[in-house]
Amino acid sequence: MAKFTLSIKWLTVLVMIALATGIAITNYLVSFHLCEQYLSHHIETVSSFFKGEVDKLVSPVETFLYNIQSLVCCKILNFNDIEKTNKFLMDFMKKYPYVTSINYGDGKGNGYLILNDRGRWLNRIKKAKNRGYVVWNTLNNNGEIINKRQLKDNYDPRNTLWYKQALESNDIQWSQQYLFRTTKDPGFTASLVLCGDSKEVVGIDLMIKDVSSFLYKAKERLYPEVKLYLISDSNELIAFVDEITPEPEKIYRVNKEQFPLLYKALYSGKDKISFHNQKWFVKIENWSIKNRKLSLVIMIPEKVITKSLYLHLFYQIFASLALVFIVLLYITKKYMNPLIEISEQTSYLGFKEIYLKKYSQRTDEIGYLSRAISSASLRILEAREMERKMEEFSYFECVRHSLGEAVHRFKDLINIIQGFATLAQPKASEEFVRNALDQIINASKRAIYLSKEILNVTGERRYEMKVFDLNFLIQSMKTKIDVTVEHYIKVVYELSSIPLMVKLDIEAFNEVLTNLIQNALDAMPEGGTIKIKTDVASLLNKEFAVLSVTDTGTGMDEETQKRIFEPFFTTKGAKGTGLGLSIVYRIVRDHEGSIEVESEVGKGTTFKIYLPLIKDVASLTASSAE
Ligand code: ADP
Ligand code: MG
Repeated sequence: MAKFTLSIKWLTVLVMIALATGIAITNYLVSFHLCEQYLSHHIETVSSFFKGEVDKLVSPVETFLYNIQSLVCCKILNFNDIEKTNKFLMDFMKKYPYVTSINYGDGKGNGYLILNDRGRWLNRIKKAKNRGYVVWNTLNNNGEIINKRQLKDNYDPRNTLWYKQALESNDIQWSQQYLFRTTKDPGFTASLVLCGDSKEVVGIDLMIKDVSSFLYKAKERLYPEVKLYLISDSNELIAFVDEITPEPEKIYRVNKEQFPLLYKALYSGKDKISFHNQKWFVKIENWSIKNRKLSLVIMIPEKVITKSLYLHLFYQIFASLALVFIVLLYITKKYMNPLIEISEQTSYLGFKEIYLKKYSQRTDEIGYLSRAISSASLRILEAREMERKMEEFSYFECVRHSLGEAVHRFKDLINIIQGFATLAQPKASEEFVRNALDQIINASKRAIYLSKEILNVTGERRYEMKVFDLNFLIQSMKTKIDVTVEHYIKVVYELSSIPLMVKLDIEAFNEVLTNLIQNALDAMPEGGTIKIKTDVASLLNKEFAVLSVTDTGTGMDEETQKRIFEPFFTTKGAKGTGLGLSIVYRIVRDHEGSIEVESEVGKGTTFKIYLPLIKDVASLTASSAE
């Protein structure tokens, strides 16, 4: 069974998806971390903003209290001068509208109050001497009394909480608890004892409403989902922004029932808590104002980060997938489809020439593959053609061989006829018979000559080996060679000085030289030089006569050199037969010699023919005579 391997296409898809997912997840984690850092930084900014705002609220109050202290102690401000004091206090209250009322009094039971009752200025005066009565004055904008009412009241300022608290310390005392003001809004008080042990006290009331408004501002700066709480050290919620809307006049305390989330955040001690399947970042900021400690608790649900990140993640995955799709489309179009097409085309390998024109020009692997297949297809076709030719050739060889054999036998028969006719001739007495025998002898000679010719054509040759001096042979062929070559070709001879005795068939040798010269001429259509050289060489302890034919023609590349001796191999198209060198090769081989070629494109070619050198000519002739 074929082993399952994922195709490149699907592998690419998987890799791309894995890559996209990996990038998306990493991105998400990094973004989450960055968002978290950004958020905590943001929270710090908001909390310091809030602290600053609270500071802005209390600092003027404190400064004003110290001012009153010095004015009263230096006797510049006198509480008994009611209208002047009223005017002075009202100027301050107009500037800071969150200051709702100012109380002042002495330890002797005289108490005064100036109150801004939602824009209406009231002044309450309790004189120690007026037992059971208080006076309520309505004031105009300048602090002047425009209406006076006396009411029954057993009020004694010395019984009030702020008075008692103020006496506890020499410095400004911020109230421990909420106090119910006449405005009916929860608020807190800063009070101060004046002039040492005088028990003269002044107190300023602030409305909680204004602190809450800062919390709302801070919330705006963060996220709508955020929860903010300002808690006093007596565990009261001075102000908060929660699902529970604070009711006026009501005091809220941190408890598990009403504020379970805040409760968990405060007492778990962690900066990240889980509540009702939701995670919250918790930040608690503590600081103090004079005698009071305040805590700001900021709680942000994790979903404010994840909500936006999920959306980003969605966009990212969407974008990644789109990218994957585009890349895939590109890869498919550019690589997969060509590969499939090439594979399909390859099935024709050996039947037709595959020329992948579309892709052959490309510089990538596909171009490389296309070119390889194209040239392979050409090679295969050539090899097939070659095979066909070889088959033809061997059939031809076979026919030629049989023909040659037949001609040889025929020649032998004629030889016999001629022999007997020659023998019979002297014995014939009659003139007619002698003439007839003469005719027979002549006809036989012609028949023998003819059969030799036929043998030459069919190539089935029997060599008539004789010993020659190679130099002498070439000398004798000079005239014939010079006639063959054109005038623009120069033939140079460089024959060795010593005779080079070789055994050869003169006709075959002729054929060899003619073929080599013809090829040299073909290689030099523009003219050049042919050098015919003879020499001695020893190969494997054997002496050889070397005949080399050198031209200054086109030369051959390596591919051509490898194939020149193949029958029918030609680079000359219709002009060549491709048989020349194959015949040369066979003749040389039949002479127990060898052939070598050296060639360089553009420079020329040298063919070297090695024939065994015969040293002892005398013994050879003697043995052949035997
Ligand atoms: P043909 O001459 O008919 O082409 P040959 O067998 O004589 O056939 O030669 C085969 C091939 O060898 C030639 O087609 C040619 O390419 C190459 N060749 C032979 N001799 C030379 C030469 N002297 N210079 C260059 N190429 C040669
Ligand atoms: Mg030739």
